[in-house]
Amino acid sequence: MKKDIHPKTYEVSARCVCGNTLKIISAEQKVDVHVCSACHPFYTGTEKFIDTAGRIEKFQKRYAKVEKKADKGKSNDK
Ligand SMILES: [Zn+2]
Repeated sequence: MKKDIHPKTYEVSARCVCGNTLKIISAEQKVDVHVCSACHPFYTGTEKFIDTAGRIEKFQKRYAKVEKKADKGKSNDK
């Protein structure tokens, strides 16, 4: 590492609003976060798709059609 250009770092425990604390290394001595890996929907699996104007439904219908066609093709091969 180059001398005199890096800030002093501290091993701090970052506190999340969900109550979880994480040991991290930071240039800040006190770290508070709003979301962490324990409470972010991406990691908890509670993430919901926001369906705008039934676009997902439309896609699923179209996809089901394609799948049926693919199944037919398979049975013809046998
Ligand atoms: Zn959290």
